[in-house]
Amino acid sequence: MKVGIVGAGLGGLLAGAYLSSEGFEVEIFEKLPFAGGRFTSMNYRGYEISTGALHMIPHGRRGPLGRMLKELGCDVEIVDSKPEGEILWNGEREMLTRKSFSWFDVLRLNIEFFMNKLGRKRTLEEFARGLSEKSYLYVRSFLGWSFSIFPEQMMFEKIVPIFRRTEVYGGPGVPVGGCKAVTESLVEIIESSSGRVHLRKEVKAIKSGEKAKFILEKEKKEYDLVISDVGHRITSELLGEELGNHPSESRGVKYTIAIDEPFIGHTGVLFVLGKNIAGMNEVTNADENLGRKHMLQVHQPLRNGSREEIIRGLRDIKEILRGYSFEVLAVQSYRGDWPVNRVMAGMDMGNRTRHDNIFVVGDGAKGEDIEVDGIALGVENVLEALL
Ligand SMILES: Cc1cc2nc3c(=O)[nH]c(=O)nc-3n(C[C@H](O)[C@H](O)[C@H](O)COP(=O)(O)OP(=O)(O)OC[C@H]3O[C@@H](n4cnc5c(N)ncnc54)[C@H](O)[C@@H]3O)c2cc1C
Repeated sequence: MKVGIVGAGLGGLLAGAYLSSEGFEVEIFEKLPFAGGRFTSMNYRGYEISTGALHMIPHGRRGPLGRMLKELGCDVEIVDSKPEGEILWNGEREMLTRKSFSWFDVLRLNIEFFMNKLGRKRTLEEFARGLSEKSYLYVRSFLGWSFSIFPEQMMFEKIVPIFRRTEVYGGPGVPVGGCKAVTESLVEIIESSSGRVHLRKEVKAIKSGEKAKFILEKEKKEYDLVISDVGHRITSELLGEELGNHPSESRGVKYTIAIDEPFIGHTGVLFVLGKNIAGMNEVTNADENLGRKHMLQVHQPLRNGSREEIIRGLRDIKEILRGYSFEVLAVQSYRGDWPVNRVMAGMDMGNRTRHDNIFVVGDGAKGEDIEVDGIALGVENVLEALL
């Protein structure tokens, strides 16, 4: 069976790796000169600057992506974060444990879970407003870091399955070699099972039918099955179809910083409370080859992506790193067709289209989890439908 895949991002490559190892004839078309989409990196002055992700896998080795990479036999080692997190608030740092929050806030959280089961519908902002200042600011920082959203943009109920999964799988991990190691190993698997990844080849249109067709610049290709890794909105545009309402994307900005001495000093996340930036990590503590010296990556959710928002983020960084010798290597903002997530967390649109032989994967069609672990579950849903 012939499978055509639009886009060599993590979703397209993961689906392609499974299908080609199952004997499907897989061809992936990528319009850029490199594979990996927002989950790879470029070396700049000795630092692996990522095209998107913060070189982290939300649930590390034990999560859905870690499990699937293992099943595929990918040669990727994932270093689970230890500690998972730390908090920076009012100039003080504190390791993140259950004791970081008052018993009253923990009780409010449990009551909210219970009320949610009874059908209460509130945004995370409405819930968090009732907490102490520290817990409220932590909720903001956690959502800004993990989803690139603000608490008023997400319903409490959407966080419940994610919270439960974090309890089961634990926190993040860093792949040795960064996100590029993951996507490169998937390309290897595809190519070693006779699949092809064509770079600099843009799919200009998709024609639906029993045999779906890809219209490329100079040729047409025919497939039994199509998988699109570009989200529902762009997939509909390629099909020339109206999609109707599409949830908005999540936007953010990432600052990559070279720093002489470690600032965080561990492999977990430093959540920054009460600032424009949401948090930072220092992945060179997990893999020293990711940077010539140490590499800090700072993330900030964006409301509109204005210059002023970014200047406020840079001011936070300057204030927090006062006394350290550092240099901002890159400021990358993400929105529109190259966002943090193609649809905001909790609003994913499923993997099916109105055509039985056309599926969507990637971060607009995740399963019930976050970021690349959600992408892995979305791919798994498609595989279940096909295999
Ligand atoms: C700042 C930032 C930080 C993040 N941090 C993390 C993190 O630490 N951990 C985590 O798990 N996730 C993180 N994410 C999210 C993660 O990077 C993305 O969810 C994931 O990489 C998206 O993969 P994808 O397969 O959905 O899409 P993409 O990576 O966007 O891949 C789609 C590909 O399709 C190609 N394409 C588009 N149109 C066409 C066409 N017509 N023809 C051919 N090719 C086409 C594109 O060029 C692209 O390469 C972060 C994202 C950002 C932006």
